[in-house]
Amino acid sequence: MIRLQSHVCGRFVDGVAAGRSFVDPVTGETLGMIDSTGVDCAGALDHARRVGGAALAALSFAERGALLGRIAEMLSASRDTWLDIARRNSGNTARDASIDVDGGLATLKYYARLAEKLGAAKRLIEPGSDRLAKGPFEARHVWSTRPGAAILINAFNFPAWGLWEKVAVALVAGMPVVAKPASGTAWLAEAMVRAVVEAGVLPDGALSLICGSAEGLLDAVEPFDCIAFTGSADTGRMIRSHPAVLAANPRLGIEADSVNVALLAPSATAEAQAFERLLEQALAAVSVKAGQLCTNIRRILVPSAMKDAFVEALASRIDGLVVGDPALPEVTVGPLVDEKQLRAAFAGLAALASETRTARGGGLPKTVVGADPAKGAFLAPTLLVADTGATLSAVHDVEVFGPVVTVIPYRDLDEAIGLAARGEGSLAASVYGDDAEEAGAIAARLAPYHGRVLTVDVEVGRSHTGHAIVMPQCVHGGPGRAGGGEELGGLRGLRFFMQRTAIQGSPTMLAALAADAVDATL
Ligand code: NAP
Repeated sequence: MIRLQSHVCGRFVDGVAAGRSFVDPVTGETLGMIDSTGVDCAGALDHARRVGGAALAALSFAERGALLGRIAEMLSASRDTWLDIARRNSGNTARDASIDVDGGLATLKYYARLAEKLGAAKRLIEPGSDRLAKGPFEARHVWSTRPGAAILINAFNFPAWGLWEKVAVALVAGMPVVAKPASGTAWLAEAMVRAVVEAGVLPDGALSLICGSAEGLLDAVEPFDCIAFTGSADTGRMIRSHPAVLAANPRLGIEADSVNVALLAPSATAEAQAFERLLEQALAAVSVKAGQLCTNIRRILVPSAMKDAFVEALASRIDGLVVGDPALPEVTVGPLVDEKQLRAAFAGLAALASETRTARGGGLPKTVVGADPAKGAFLAPTLLVADTGATLSAVHDVEVFGPVVTVIPYRDLDEAIGLAARGEGSLAASVYGDDAEEAGAIAARLAPYHGRVLTVDVEVGRSHTGHAIVMPQCVHGGPGRAGGGEELGGLRGLRFFMQRTAIQGSPTMLAALAADAVDATL
């Protein structure tokens, strides 16, 4: 049986307790054990800050980028191994696993290229100076690496992408990393980190890993550390209010859950291309990764007159989905990640039941191909329908982390925007309308409530990346309930791991300062 280890202070170590098991969600069988009891989290952070921090500080942006490039190249060579772990431990179909694994590799490569362009500098300087007095006295804004460690805590649904999208940005910024994957799917993260460590790609202390509970990790946090958390709003609240976090006031980023919305434009008809594009994305929402994406569409807003046509069309497509063992090529929907997530999804469905009718699914699938539904964590792709948006409460509030969407009719655009806002801040929204002007106007109204808005008009057609897919060029994160954090977005992602300082002085001093920094606007 596999036993995952933590990588701290330059070596792999075991937890001293038995720990908890992680499973194959298709069969419920235990794959291995994970435990961090007795692992020296404070020592890991200290080693990262002192040893890893010093090593990274000696490197330019371009040199750090080269490290990322080497990690991506090395991991790409063993891609099949990672896909296999994703299938076995996360219940991923080939497509699901690719989103996680290839998404992680692509993000590493993207940041490798970005860092290369920053060249030999180790600091960033914002273009332009501000004159502060009549005499020769000015200010410029400089970004430098925070002298702490980056504590990266991730959710279970993206053990590869979630790890590397955070690690890539932290390392480019020059911060050493202590990563903590979610216990249920940490196998993939552990295997990838082990491969990177064994290949000797990174300097000692640049990348540490805690496999198991985060106990002790936050107790040792210091003021210049950064905590980037992805997970549920409940855990986010616990981290925010942790006594050591309150006392040390490290930089804290929370990427939490959200009840994301997709909106069919008021002018769309069943013949519009927009109708078809929304159907495609709605079908993805109840099949890809069995709906376990934080950015997944949860609510679908359609004009009242279009409700029946849309529900009918989506229901018939859902009938074509095949739930089962993701190892089989015909399977399009795998299981949830484990029994606990299945129970949580059932609890969520029960909360939505009083406000909706079930058009498809709503429980265990009738047919599960190649697996025993009593043993695996399978949930039927589910289409719920509400009669009106105004009286809903749970539908706007409960994130069922599975293949579940609710169609909600709206009267007019004002009501639709109001309903979208009832999510109280989300990661991603999408708008489907053939008319670009109409789509743009809707996007502008949705923007304050969302971190990202995808618009699909006739010009975009099928050439978009999808509602749920996070692109490293674009910021990821949302206001309010979604956590208020912001990640990625090209160079913007570096902000989190760097300190902006207004440096005041003579033009000569500022010119000298600028000589070894690179111009960049974050
Ligand atoms: P979770 O239960 O909140 O756990 C997230 C991470 O926090 C795990 O690594 C977990 O470790 C750790 N953790 C738990 N208690 C902690 C504590 N007291 N102190 C420090 N760390 C602690 O979330 P999940 O079930 O893994 O993920 C599903 C949720 O994440 C969904 O709600 C989804 O919407 C959200 N999500 C958001 C995003 C985003 O980018 N906004 C992306 C993916 C997922 P253990 O596993 O060891 O308990």
